[in-house]
Amino acid sequence: MAVATKRSTGKQVRYENALRSMRAELQDLLRDTRQDVLAEQVPEDSIALGSQNLLQDLAVGQLHRYKQLLEEVEAALRRVEDGSYGVCGGCRNAIPVRRLQALPWARYCVSCTELRQALSLN
Ligand SMILES: [Zn+2]
Repeated sequence: MAVATKRSTGKQVRYENALRSMRAELQDLLRDTRQDVLAEQVPEDSIALGSQNLLQDLAVGQLHRYKQLLEEVEAALRRVEDGSYGVCGGCRNAIPVRRLQALPWARYCVSCTELRQALSLN
């Protein structure tokens, strides 16, 4: 028999599903981008080398962003697991639903995010 827990509410399940499919998508993107970065291409001349380096840089930047987002998504899934999902990590108030819909991995409410940005915490 299923045990009712904090995380079994319909809303949380919806976010959890959204987070899970986001994680799968990011993992695919990461794999593809990584393959692009690692793909060995012998440039024909210095112009080709230049544009190849540029594309490489762009791909590396993208790889970085995907990785960061994937970490956020995984951290959010851990919060779903431990029941702290949707609670602001700063003021401990509930993160508004509209914010979670826009950013299901949100860790902080808007005012705490702004405060942290102002203090350059991240
Ligand atoms: Zn807050």
